[in-house]
Amino acid sequence: MACDDDTLAQLLSTLDRFVKERLVPNEHRVADEDAIPPELVAEMRGLGLFGLSTPVEYGGIGLNMSQEVQVAFVLGQTSPAFRSLIGTNNGIGSQGIVLDGTEEQKKKYLPRLASGDIVGAFALTEPNAGSDASALSTSARLDGDVYVLNGTKRFITNAPEAGLFTVMARTNSEDKGAGGISAFLVEAGTPGLHIGPHDRKMGQKGTHTADVLFEDCRVPASQLLGGREGQGFKTAMKVLDRGRLHIAAVCVGVAERLIRESLRYAMERQQFGKPIAEFQLIQAMLADSRTEAYAARCMVLDAARRRDDGQNVSTEASCCKLFASEMVGRVADRAVQIFGGAGYIADYGIERFYRDVRLFRLYEGTSQIQQLVIARNMMREYA
Ligand SMILES: Cc1cc2nc3c(=O)[nH]c(=O)nc-3n(C[C@H](O)[C@H](O)[C@H](O)COP(=O)(O)OP(=O)(O)OC[C@H]3O[C@@H](n4cnc5c(N)ncnc54)[C@H](O)[C@@H]3O)c2cc1C
Repeated sequence: MACDDDTLAQLLSTLDRFVKERLVPNEHRVADEDAIPPELVAEMRGLGLFGLSTPVEYGGIGLNMSQEVQVAFVLGQTSPAFRSLIGTNNGIGSQGIVLDGTEEQKKKYLPRLASGDIVGAFALTEPNAGSDASALSTSARLDGDVYVLNGTKRFITNAPEAGLFTVMARTNSEDKGAGGISAFLVEAGTPGLHIGPHDRKMGQKGTHTADVLFEDCRVPASQLLGGREGQGFKTAMKVLDRGRLHIAAVCVGVAERLIRESLRYAMERQQFGKPIAEFQLIQAMLADSRTEAYAARCMVLDAARRRDDGQNVSTEASCCKLFASEMVGRVADRAVQIFGGAGYIADYGIERFYRDVRLFRLYEGTSQIQQLVIARNMMREYA
């Protein structure tokens, strides 16, 4: 699955203009109002941004991974909240269906997710199951031709806006591990499905997370993802593998934006009678940031190409997520330092990015979990 080179080039240039002319000027507003203006959401729909990775036959643009990460490099040039709005429809909120859904499920939901008519959410994490996601306790009991779901999901991105949830729940209470978990497609408005209040987050204002509660929520058996029990955890891990490359690419985009802003400020800001960019200690920070962002960009492109070639990139995806998310944290920290006091003041926007990027080291697998995945895969290869 891939779009042709001309279409991609046109998409990247349109997106670049959209980011600069429409999204960047609205960054402060989105943060202040903790909401993305509806007219911008409509424009994002019009550009097809909700269906970047959805196959063409289901109404999307059908980008392959190498193409999708290039789009993410561009989208990363603005507040991560904008990317987050379309992120679930392109990633964790739709990929379960793309990868493992039945034909009927694909036809029913993918076109609406691709057009942005509905927002997708992915509900894996629970109050007592975060990094150890396979310990989840939300249950799904078969009762005739419906499953009855009970449990609580935590920190679910776009839950308040979502029309469709991919929910991981335990169908086999005897199996306490990954094998007892199945995935369900649950529509918003299903009786027994409740959304908690918005979480009050450190950053990424404008995008929302909340608890999702299931109280005897009756879901037709036809909503079992892929029509098979016991596959839900495998699906979730495949979805996250792919998502890690996308997140790593967004980290590269944000880092490149921050480096550009840091360089501009360093060239303009004068102290001791010259631009601070002329001080070698400032140059070292700029050079380190540039080097690390370049390394992350190369890693992401390489891993994406390997995935498109059909290779298993579980290790590489974790390497990318680990390195790029830690890298953008260091770049944001240096940006605050280069801006001096202005870096700490909201009007300059640098402190907002500093808070926004902190999330990348936490969700879709913390840095420690990426390290565990990489080392576990290394040990498996050795054996
Ligand atoms: C804004 C936001 C959006 C999110 N969106 C979603 C979403 O849409 N869907 C969803 O399902 N989840 C979502 N999450 C949840 C996110 O994926 C989890 O927060 C994350 O996986 C970590 O789980 P935890 O918070 O329970 O931390 P814990 O698992 O409790 O981890 C706490 C600390 O212990 C470390 N740790 C845990 N186990 C080990 C180990 N074995 N070895 C070494 N260190 C370890 C962790 O790395 C971390 O530093 C979101 C979270 C946030 C904050």
